[in-house]
Amino acid sequence: MRDDSTGGDGGVPHLSPEEFRKLGHRMVDWIADYQARLESFPVRSQVAPGGVASKLPEHPPEEGLAGEAGWEGIFKDLEDIILPGLTHWQSPSFFAYFPANASGPAVLGELLSAGLGVQGMLWSTSPAATELETRVLDWLAELTGLPEDFRSTSATGGSVIQGTASEATLVAMVAARERARRHGAPADSEWVAYASTQAHSSVLKAAMLCGVAHGAEDTTHVRLIETSARYGMRPELLERTIREDLDAGRVPFFVCATVGSTSSGAADPVRAVGEVMARTPMRASGGWLHVDAAWAGAALVCPEHRDLLDGMSGVDSLAFNPHKWLLTNFDCNAFYTRDRKALLDALSVTPEYLRNAASASGAVIDYRDWQVPLGRRFRALKLWFVLRHYGAKGLRAHIREHVRLGERFESWVSEDERFEVAVPRSLSLVCFRLKPLPGEPPQATDARNRELLERVNASGKMFLSHTVLHAVEGAPARYVLRMAIGASMTQERHVRAAWELLASSVG
Ligand SMILES: *Cc1c(COP(=O)(O)O)cnc(C)c1O
Repeated sequence: MRDDSTGGDGGVPHLSPEEFRKLGHRMVDWIADYQARLESFPVRSQVAPGGVASKLPEHPPEEGLAGEAGWEGIFKDLEDIILPGLTHWQSPSFFAYFPANASGPAVLGELLSAGLGVQGMLWSTSPAATELETRVLDWLAELTGLPEDFRSTSATGGSVIQGTASEATLVAMVAARERARRHGAPADSEWVAYASTQAHSSVLKAAMLCGVAHGAEDTTHVRLIETSARYGMRPELLERTIREDLDAGRVPFFVCATVGSTSSGAADPVRAVGEVMARTPMRASGGWLHVDAAWAGAALVCPEHRDLLDGMSGVDSLAFNPHKWLLTNFDCNAFYTRDRKALLDALSVTPEYLRNAASASGAVIDYRDWQVPLGRRFRALKLWFVLRHYGAKGLRAHIREHVRLGERFESWVSEDERFEVAVPRSLSLVCFRLKPLPGEPPQATDARNRELLERVNASGKMFLSHTVLHAVEGAPARYVLRMAIGASMTQERHVRAAWELLASSVG
């Protein structure tokens, strides 16, 4: 026990650096052991609702643990309470949603960020936090082949780490509205944003947050444009809708094109969308094209996937999540724009208490002006560690291996006559399902697929998720399974085991 009367800490039981060192080593050991044990856990958590909460005390402790020995209880609770309540996103047999990559270098960067505990809202509140962020994002722009004018070294562009793709879309949307106002649209215009029916729900949410959409059902101010059979936005319908809105006196100001949709990995035709904006009065009145490449953007590190960048000359901003498929643990969204001024105009507010000489000089970046919150963590550290540890070669190998595994899986599905690939594979995402039996109504096919999914997920041996590909061009809506290969440690044996389990679980 420490003697509070002589400790000089006013009775506050901080860990000493020596105590922290010991516990820290133990926690790192625990994480390393977790990585080694990952394949022994059921991938999807098997707890019932309330199962975790029921094991937690109702009231906070009055007495703290004060020191190392007391932490035994915490390590025990990790095993007994927390682990059973986890879905193991880092399991090599996790194929659900999109991946949420963590990696050793990223985790160490995250630890360091917490250990340093700096808050990088302004350049002056930690110059390294800002300057490292700017540099690693320029590295990432180079690695992904983004246009020069998205880099900090360009005359008008720049980049920032946002927390998530959702925040990136929101920030792009408010910048877009600001720019449209500069072009003369009245502040109280009836604003209209466009995306495809396959766009992520964060586009609608952003429109709700910034007051463009009046609720989730507001299809007048957020137009979801119908797609082709491959689930890419149909540009001719976009053009018709924009013209209708203009005729009705509304102000089209924002288009979100998706590259790698959440449902099926589909890509909107970015070039054609940009051309529509240029052909209608939308572009000339400040209209903004944002590309949401949350998942697929990571694949741009491979030159063979740069076709995803076609049409970038008409794009105002692009964002993707290294926290999905680029080995950087959540949260880390790389946001690029070629019009940083629009962002700053929309987001800068400077109260007296934040004024400082460096900011006033205009020679530095204050990232608080590029995002919704004021404060910000030192997230660039983890990205820096990832880029340095893996190098461009390592990152390309990571993406290529998963795409190769996606190809393997796709070939096994198409060789089994009970199954079919539902839409062409997108990178490492395969949407597939059990084929309809002769004369089987669509709902019955859907039900068999739902049952198959539940059976394999309940086994604990793997976890994958589903989507409904909505009816398009005469084809009915289809319930399909999504095999999203991308966990950091997934190898061919895990993908093969997943396929064998699926194939042997058909009822
Ligand atoms: C995952 C995803 C998002 C949302 O990502 P967050 O970073 O969690 O906000 C947005 N758009 C697409 C296309 C996605 O796949």
